[in-house]
Amino acid sequence: MTASDWRKMLKQLRAKPAILQRFLKHSTPKDRKFGVAARRCERCGRFGAHINKYGIHLCRQCFREMAEELGFKKYS
Ligand SMILES: [Zn+2]
Repeated sequence: MTASDWRKMLKQLRAKPAILQRFLKHSTPKDRKFGVAARRCERCGRFGAHINKYGIHLCRQCFREMAEELGFKKYS
């Protein structure tokens, strides 16, 4: 469970408060300082195909949708 959103698991545990507390104490993933899980898209939260260049911090799909707004121009 390095890259997917672990908070999705909390949905099941809401019905069981004691187990939820135990999960939060012992099983929450730590904040990553580097690696794939440290970089997620600011717009959609996706982990793959991340663009860090120029401080964009978007995945390729979001970048494709927002490129014109950001001032990029397609030359082909
Ligand atoms: Zn995205």
